[in-house]
Amino acid sequence: MSGSVDAKLSGLQDIGRGSQSSTPAPEITIACRNVTHRFGHARSPQSVLALENVSLEVRRGEFLCLLGPSGCGKSTLLNIIGGLVTPTGGEITVRGRSLRGEPLPHDVAFVFQESTLFPWYTILENFRLALKFQGVPRGEWDGGAIAALQSVGMTSFAQHYPGQLSVGMRQRINVARSICVGTPVLLMDEPFAALDEQTRMVLGEDLSILLAKTGKTIVFVTHSLAEAVFLSDRIVVMTARPGRIKTIVEVNEAHPRSANFMIEPRFGDLRNALYAALRDEIRLAMTAPPDGQDEETTP
Ligand code: ADP
Ligand code: MG
Repeated sequence: MSGSVDAKLSGLQDIGRGSQSSTPAPEITIACRNVTHRFGHARSPQSVLALENVSLEVRRGEFLCLLGPSGCGKSTLLNIIGGLVTPTGGEITVRGRSLRGEPLPHDVAFVFQESTLFPWYTILENFRLALKFQGVPRGEWDGGAIAALQSVGMTSFAQHYPGQLSVGMRQRINVARSICVGTPVLLMDEPFAALDEQTRMVLGEDLSILLAKTGKTIVFVTHSLAEAVFLSDRIVVMTARPGRIKTIVEVNEAHPRSANFMIEPRFGDLRNALYAALRDEIRLAMTAPPDGQDEETTP
């Protein structure tokens, strides 16, 4: 990263810190220590070193965004945190528990880019099923489902089938379902990527309200610089593959955030600084050798 970008980022980070330096250390919900992941055997020509030595702590109630060029390992890192992939190196703890190659469904819920609602069930039936898998007593299913639908203003769609809703509405329901299962941690992999910009903005505002209300810890992957600034408490900028942490940018703005935040000069400054940090990595990712021919940087 060039000196000027560094200076710009550290200036913004200083603004972000404000007077919080005297507050007690935050509780850590997710800790990654030297996480490295290689797909395939190191000697195989198809082997890919996806992540290298990623160390990161996510605070309780924080909205943390992973930003980086395509193929830099963002989804891999999210899947590792969710216990869906066991890293080839390093350690992960979620709420103090060390992950041992299995998900923690009572602690962590996922939201993916595509709606994962069962098309042959109504919205309410989909919610009941999620709560059933979560081990919630039957008598609490409908109350939990309606409360979650209310939180995104969609109670009137409880009896609809997913196919009767627009893509944006389905994704809004998907987010509501992930709230409904009541886990303290939400992992979201480009959940709004398939949506138009206006719908993304509305769902982003929903999410910010949700964060303020529930205090959930959210790790979110996006390609959108504006979405990252609007939603995040901290943005982790990753390098081209193998993904490492290039820099972390703080956004000091309380949740829920209003659309007015987007027209503040600070918002534009943060977005520009993110782009400056990312630009070289995107170029590198575009000219990198194909998978399986990466430079060996670890034994
Ligand atoms: P991102 O989400 O940042 O776009 P991914 O985490 O999906 O990137 O992938 C990181 C790298 O690992 C890419 O080069 C991708 O091709 C490779 N990769 C991802 N999943 C697998 C897999 N299951 N097997 C082999 N390689 C994979
Ligand atoms: Mg991805």
